[in-house]
Amino acid sequence: MQSYESTTQVLSRPDQITCAMVQDLLPLYIEQEVSERSQMTISEHIAQCAHCAGYLEGTRNTRTQLQQAQQQRTQAVQQERILYIQQFAQNPWSSLLLTALLCGMGGGSMLISFERFTVDRLFLLLPALGAYIGLLALAQQNRTLNLLSGMHIGLASIVGVLGLVMLVQSSSLPIGFFGFLFLLAAFSAIYMTIIGSTWPTR
Ligand SMILES: [Zn+2]
Repeated sequence: MQSYESTTQVLSRPDQITCAMVQDLLPLYIEQEVSERSQMTISEHIAQCAHCAGYLEGTRNTRTQLQQAQQQRTQAVQQERILYIQQFAQNPWSSLLLTALLCGMGGGSMLISFERFTVDRLFLLLPALGAYIGLLALAQQNRTLNLLSGMHIGLASIVGVLGLVMLVQSSSLPIGFFGFLFLLAAFSAIYMTIIGSTWPTR
């Protein structure tokens, strides 16, 4: 079998170039991976030979079609992924799951941070529980609750739990006051998120 190198050497004598050689080298010629002299020789040949010119056109078209098919496949895969993420984000149950996770983590870490666990500490989980029940009711009533709302409610619940801890645990008045503000802000945020997410946009 004739190697690429020897073919190129043959091409250095333009008079010996044949249609078969040109057609063999066309893929490399399109990629501009032949030597400069071969590039010129092939160009000259194609300018004079209608058969090879047609062959070049066909090769280019095939390559373009292959590239387009590849691009379309890649785009289809990407669109499928985006659709999957969108479906997950718009599903109320994924919001619930995330809220459960955030509230559970917030309340749980508060509970663990105490040196001794007593049953009355469990009230710290009440705001989180309230958020769950509210979200559950909301998700059953309508399907407009999205992932962002779930995240808002979850984060607000954590702030609420923090406020409650400050309010109840602290013996100093300023810290207790800030705890109350935290609690108020958290409830406002949850309320506004629920109102906003149930806004009749459809
Ligand atoms: Zn030819």
